[in-house]
Amino acid sequence: MDIKNNLNTIKSNLPKNIILVAVSKTKPVCDIEIAYRSGQRIFGENKVQELQEKQPILPKDIQWHMIGHLQTNKVKYIAPFVSLIHAVDSLKLLKEINKQAIKNNRKIPILLQFHIAKEQSKFGLSIEKANDLITSEDFLNLKNISIHGVMGMATFTDNKNQIKTEFNKLKLIFDQLKRDYFKESNQFKEISMGMSGDYELAIKEGSTMVRIGSTIFGSRKT
Ligand SMILES: *Cc1c(COP(=O)(O)O)cnc(C)c1O
Repeated sequence: MDIKNNLNTIKSNLPKNIILVAVSKTKPVCDIEIAYRSGQRIFGENKVQELQEKQPILPKDIQWHMIGHLQTNKVKYIAPFVSLIHAVDSLKLLKEINKQAIKNNRKIPILLQFHIAKEQSKFGLSIEKANDLITSEDFLNLKNISIHGVMGMATFTDNKNQIKTEFNKLKLIFDQLKRDYFKESNQFKEISMGMSGDYELAIKEGSTMVRIGSTIFGSRKT
């Protein structure tokens, strides 16, 4: 795998305003260092333990994104340093992130995760649930969280039309939330969608942030 070359190829094809999250899960620190030396600063991991292991031994100006499902009892381990949590889908999790943010004397940026795929999943909000969440009194008290936008994953399929429809759905959800609740917010601006197989389509449908792993670092064993 020529990580540097892969990264440069992707970067030269990405519109300048699109944020690239290099998904380094399961990959060794030396691979991340190669990407770092090629100028990449934003890395995504989906396991708390891996973040805990990698963060202390890598350069401090790396922005670590937690892109996977996050258990409430593990928030405390990443709260001191995480720069964006992508997959937040419950008030319980929001409250815990807020609590740990206060302990660390900081604000933690998050994205609300939506369930847009056909596949059954325990994870991700519906628009109805999001409306309830955002209008709840508890939500208003979360002063140490900043909501930066939305995140979603399309169905694992070859059907491009279906993927396109699902990405479009997330874009419409973003637009609705922006209009109804976040008009005055300068932070609420990100739509995190698109992975190695579908990021070009995601960008056409309005993605502002793509999460790319295997196209940069090669396929994963697990
Ligand atoms: C693994 C992962 C990615 C990256 O997937 P690739 O197909 O390797 O680009 C993106 N988003 C999430 C949430 C992931 O878990």
